[in-house]
Amino acid sequence: MFLDIKPDVIKSLLSGDKKIVLTSHMNPDGDAVGATLGLLHFFTKKNMHVNAILPNEFPAFYKWLPGSDKILIFEQHPKKVKRLIKEADIIFSLDYNAFNRVGQIADLLKNSSAKKIMIDHHPNPEEGFDYYISTVETSSTGELVYDFIVQLGDKNLVDEKIAAALYVSIMTDTGSFSFSCNNPKTYRIAADLIEKGIDASKIHKLVYDNYSEDRLRLLGFALSERMIVWNDLHTAVIYLTKNDLKKFNYKVGDTEGLVNYPLSIYNINVSVLVTEKDKKIRLSFRSKGEFAVNKVVSKYFEGGGHKNAAGGYSYVSMEKTLENIKSVMERYKNELDYQIEY
Ligand code: MN
Repeated sequence: MFLDIKPDVIKSLLSGDKKIVLTSHMNPDGDAVGATLGLLHFFTKKNMHVNAILPNEFPAFYKWLPGSDKILIFEQHPKKVKRLIKEADIIFSLDYNAFNRVGQIADLLKNSSAKKIMIDHHPNPEEGFDYYISTVETSSTGELVYDFIVQLGDKNLVDEKIAAALYVSIMTDTGSFSFSCNNPKTYRIAADLIEKGIDASKIHKLVYDNYSEDRLRLLGFALSERMIVWNDLHTAVIYLTKNDLKKFNYKVGDTEGLVNYPLSIYNINVSVLVTEKDKKIRLSFRSKGEFAVNKVVSKYFEGGGHKNAAGGYSYVSMEKTLENIKSVMERYKNELDYQIEY
């Protein structure tokens, strides 16, 4: 835990007519979108000059969130986004802990003279930010944003719009309260948000019961045709080629959550989703129990993340990537042989 921000310092930082820019990571997930929107509504309510930027498009099933149309996508508005970053006095980095997580705007952010505030819950934050609200014990960045608002003494400003955004953060980053969810505080915050008038069950439906037919068929195809199970390694891999994705008219977000399915097999402790992108192969690791996938990814696959959820890349063919994953996991064979017990 590493929270070097004092509410008074933040208040003086925010005072005056400051230009605030909110940013989050590439391939934005529910926490990235939720934390960004939560703060966007909050600063708007405080009549501050604020803009929200995401590097690339976020999934359609978050577009019902009020204000989501106000988020600027760098890939669609590169000039405007560059200008906003250049003019910014304060930049918030939400749900990421290293500049390279924002893709093409990384250098611009890094070299900006704005004060940079990280609000994030991934381990080992990179140097180069001015202020850190960074802890690994928190469910989501949305939860940290809620704390941030409370610490500024503005709990009363949390309205239904902010609550819906932050609830999406917490709900998606805990897999609907199924992991990273052992902290009573997370539930107290969820309760606070529900008291602001959100409909938690409706939000769940809007995010999870919002598949296209193609997305559901891709899920079926992935599980029946593209899942490899290495029982002796307690590991399963799902791989999807560019052609597979094309066949099912892939849209951003269509593979979100797919990586979790193999973990529902009783003896599988690690699951890997391998997707072929333009010039690289994206790897998404999940584990249940003690095995830490972030150490595997940071050592062998140019990435990182949390103990039970991490992502990285491979720059060789699909076939070679699958071989590499297998040989890497073989090094951990003994550590992988465990059963979850109560
Ligand atoms: Mn997160």
